[in-house]
Amino acid sequence: MASTLESIQSAAAGRADRLIDKHGRAITDLRVSVTDRCNYKCVYCRTGNEGAVYADLPIADYLRMARVFVGLGIEKVRLTGGEPLLRRGLLELVRDLSRLRTLDGAPLDLALTTNGHLLEEMAEPLRDAGLSRITVSMDAVDAEKFARITRVPGSYERVLAGVRAAKRVGLAPVKVNCVLLRGFNEDQIVRFAQFSREEGVIVRFIEFMPLEEDRLWTPESVVSMKEIVTALGSYRPVVRMAPNAASETAVRYTFDDGVGEIGIIAPVTQAFCGACSRVRLTSDGKIRTCLFSQSDHDLYGVMQRGGSDDDMVEFIRRTIERKEARHHIGEPEFLKPSRSMVHIGG
Ligand code: SAM
Repeated sequence: MASTLESIQSAAAGRADRLIDKHGRAITDLRVSVTDRCNYKCVYCRTGNEGAVYADLPIADYLRMARVFVGLGIEKVRLTGGEPLLRRGLLELVRDLSRLRTLDGAPLDLALTTNGHLLEEMAEPLRDAGLSRITVSMDAVDAEKFARITRVPGSYERVLAGVRAAKRVGLAPVKVNCVLLRGFNEDQIVRFAQFSREEGVIVRFIEFMPLEEDRLWTPESVVSMKEIVTALGSYRPVVRMAPNAASETAVRYTFDDGVGEIGIIAPVTQAFCGACSRVRLTSDGKIRTCLFSQSDHDLYGVMQRGGSDDDMVEFIRRTIERKEARHHIGEPEFLKPSRSMVHIGG
């Protein structure tokens, strides 16, 4: 299997150059949603009344699309959803992706974002299949509050067990992502700092974006980077850390004793669109060039019409060419994107 995949891939590499959009940004980071279904109904993300909206594709089709993208210079693939751990065939997909090589001949940086509900049982098989890293979403470190947010009783205990299992099997560093909303969970900032120090995980706070199914977002609902740093400083003196890479979205902090790591991702108050290296593939095989795009680009349609890998390369190139310069959150002309976060893949 590996040799077939690799030979097709190297043929694609020979045909094509790396993806660069018209703003000069190299596109090296692909996010693939492998299902539109989710077993949580987080109150800031979903209405609670709607289920999956878009189709799941056969696992082999995600692999083919990812392989073609990798032949165009993608170096990092993140699997997401919906909830990716609900997806049958996920382990096989991870195994096959881990056999792909970048244009420089290196293994992919292969990551996954999950709500962690099924992670305790899945952590070891995922690692064995070749996953490099994992990010778990947690919006509180208080069991009652957590269950109110996810609308699933007992969810905190499950997710905590998942985080610990991921750490135990060496899916390190485990990152824990928390979306902060004013009047809702900003009281968790210091608790999360303690959590990072006690559990040995990287906690990342993410500003709330207008990507929810409902209409909750207002500029005032965003807990800004500045406020987060102030809250952390009230707990212990914070120390800014050097970035890992130029395109890194998180600004990193530790504390005066060097224990714990907190990242802050501020797409609203400190947008990083100028360094964006991402492209997304939805569970139904549409390319999205920005979280806030007004339309999708139907790569799966090219496959369904019997398109070759070359046809897909051509379609991807034309699509990436049109990648938006930046988002317009908070500006008068801002339009809500055509899909919400759960149906794009965060
Ligand atoms: N089910 C998986 C999970 O929970 O991580 C993957 C999909 S989920 C949509 C991906 C991430 O998007 C989660 O960390 C979630 O908190 C985040 N998210 C959802 N809505 C958001 C919003 N409006 N603004 C910022 N992040 C959001």
